[in-house]
Amino acid sequence: MNLERFMELMSEGGFFYPSFEIYRSKAEVGGFYDYGPLGVELKRNIIEKWRKIFVYPYQDFIVEIETPIVMPKIVFEASGHVEHFTDAIVECTKCGRKFRADHLIEEELGKRGISIKTEGLSLEELDKLIRDYDIKCPVCGGELSSVKPFNLLFQTTIGPYSDNIGYIRPETAQGMFVSFPKIFNLMGRKLPLGIAQIGKVGRNEISPRQGLIRLREFTQMEIEFFFDPENAKCPYLDELDVKLRIIPEKDVVTGVKEPREFRPREAVEGGIVPNEWMAFFMGLATIYMNELGISLDHQYFLAKLPEERAHYSAASFDQMVYSERFGWVEVSGHAYRTDYDLGRHARYSGYDLSVDRRLTTPKEVVEVRVYPNPQRIREVFGNEMPKVMQAIGKADPRWLANELANKGRVIIDGYTITSDVVFIREERRKVHVERFIPHDVEPSFGVDRIVYVTLEHAYTEVNGKPLLRLPPDIAPIKVAVLPIIKKQEYVSIGRNIFRELSMVGVKAVYDDDGAIGSRYAKYDSVGVPFAITIDDKTPIDSTVTIRDRDTKAQIRVSMNDIIKVITDAIFRRISIIEIAKSMGLQLIIRE
Ligand code: AMP
Repeated sequence: MNLERFMELMSEGGFFYPSFEIYRSKAEVGGFYDYGPLGVELKRNIIEKWRKIFVYPYQDFIVEIETPIVMPKIVFEASGHVEHFTDAIVECTKCGRKFRADHLIEEELGKRGISIKTEGLSLEELDKLIRDYDIKCPVCGGELSSVKPFNLLFQTTIGPYSDNIGYIRPETAQGMFVSFPKIFNLMGRKLPLGIAQIGKVGRNEISPRQGLIRLREFTQMEIEFFFDPENAKCPYLDELDVKLRIIPEKDVVTGVKEPREFRPREAVEGGIVPNEWMAFFMGLATIYMNELGISLDHQYFLAKLPEERAHYSAASFDQMVYSERFGWVEVSGHAYRTDYDLGRHARYSGYDLSVDRRLTTPKEVVEVRVYPNPQRIREVFGNEMPKVMQAIGKADPRWLANELANKGRVIIDGYTITSDVVFIREERRKVHVERFIPHDVEPSFGVDRIVYVTLEHAYTEVNGKPLLRLPPDIAPIKVAVLPIIKKQEYVSIGRNIFRELSMVGVKAVYDDDGAIGSRYAKYDSVGVPFAITIDDKTPIDSTVTIRDRDTKAQIRVSMNDIIKVITDAIFRRISIIEIAKSMGLQLIIRE
């Protein structure tokens, strides 16, 4: 693949290119990319395809929401990001340049032919590698500082108070955790419940240099899927006609590089994937990549070892897709976040985030009960008695009993409660429901990486000319309407067809400029799957030709059939050859 030509097409064709171009010499900031007119459409189609695979078919229990990008500090204290969301940084003591320590070590040792995996190493271990291998600043050769943590959260202040700190979310996920009780109520207080969100996130990456692969601002599509860990059955698991290619944890440990194939259920039963819902989403993720044009042998799931996993995760898999330019790229992360996030938010917010579990057989439980001792309360508090009774009623009995046992007194609403003003009893009771915090699995996709790999996989050259074989429903422009020559009669027919297509929501272009061959080539190179050509027969018999980008096959159809043929070909992915067969049309192959 001619990578240089491909990248030129991406920029010149208006797919994507670095932001702030006019200020490049004045403000050197990497990690920000613009999408041009074609890029925006492509990204929108890739996102819509995700909704069609992950959300719409399951809308009775998976719903999409939108929450703010800026969130108050406490949210990220609860989530653990203020403490844990760091990369290791190292600074040159001579020129002051800063580098991401793990990447620097891998690159510098790579130059010496030494291959080392740094993911999951501690600051001390990274530091030791720098000293042991005597790694210096790659720019000026200066001595490097010790390795320090660098928090990737973008910090801001909210409103006019400089102490009201907020952060740009580094994942959409926290919006779903924080609004869990609201959506749980809206959806009828049932599990499982999936909350999806698509939106921008920010990560203050130390030195992003890989185009759309490592950005400081990017778009995520995530689902937080809440379920009862004691009833984690996924009724759709066996419906998935897909094999998961996985390098399981134990193969990662022993250094096996070849993925193994599992049916989703086999992966769960073999203890490779921890629960059915996670395997289900990994199956959908495989199908999703396939629908974007990435074949099975160009994707697999890589298990993450405990030291490589994010702080919230009990099991993780990265979905890897092959890129000629970047090697294997993680396009989505699948994490079993357990009850970590809801548990933390319950603690930090003081809001009860647990839900009921109906028990099939009632359970006997021992409950601590606290009853006020009215006589003693009147003696101690006199007229305040009703308020004291209320205060005692409000407190969690187990906590109150504990506090009294340990400290002998506790203050509630300003009243000092001592052991003599209450009776504490343990009572046995049969219960039909119990409370628990739902568990969560998260499939998390980075849209921009997916846009990139989709484009790279679609790119090829035929007879030295670029051809972008994007699947028709993903392609930014679906149809080019092309009068063979610029003749008034052809022009007005062409414009009408263009307008009709636009009216039914098919993104089209109209173009009557230049030789027909060069127009075909131009639209092939930006992935337009079909061209409708108006020629000398059109005004006579009201037919046009429809040309297929990949096979160059053409069919001649009545103008009345254009919308049906085009929508079948795009949205139902029926090939032009199939359509010709079913309509009894002749196929014309012309280069
Ligand atoms: P993570 O929460 O780190 O697992 O990220 C979830 C997904 O977001 C990854 O699988 C990537 O597709 C994407 N992603 C993470 N970091 C970046 C970045 N700096 N630039 C672009 N995409 C990213």
